[in-house]
Amino acid sequence: MAQRETRGATAFGKPFGTAFPQLADAEVEWEEEAYTLSGGAPQVRQGLRMSVKEGYFQGTIRCGQAGCAGGGFEVERIIQFMVQDALEEREGVLVCGGWIGGPEGEEARPCVNAIRYRVRLTYRRRSGEGDA
Ligand SMILES: [Zn+2]
Repeated sequence: MAQRETRGATAFGKPFGTAFPQLADAEVEWEEEAYTLSGGAPQVRQGLRMSVKEGYFQGTIRCGQAGCAGGGFEVERIIQFMVQDALEEREGVLVCGGWIGGPEGEEARPCVNAIRYRVRLTYRRRSGEGDA
């Protein structure tokens, strides 16, 4: 079954505020490197972003590769690690773990699209906490 497209802010299939009650906002900026099956230089899609405050946030960024199955970029896991370590900013690279299946008889190949991301988190203030 195809996943339903949802607008709004979600992570781990839940409303963002339920998944991460300690966060007031999460912003992600990224660019995607898309590889074509015929090889050659990757196409880079730049300037992509989403934020909880702006009302659009997906825990898993969809992979832009046509025909990619089971792929995507799980920024929700990055955020989970960041919250555990109380980090506010993190940059890195995620590689798609999906497969591109050919028509019958053709071998499925791993999708190698990748994103370079930058995540910025805003934590909710706890009362009694001073500024740094
Ligand atoms: Zn993919």
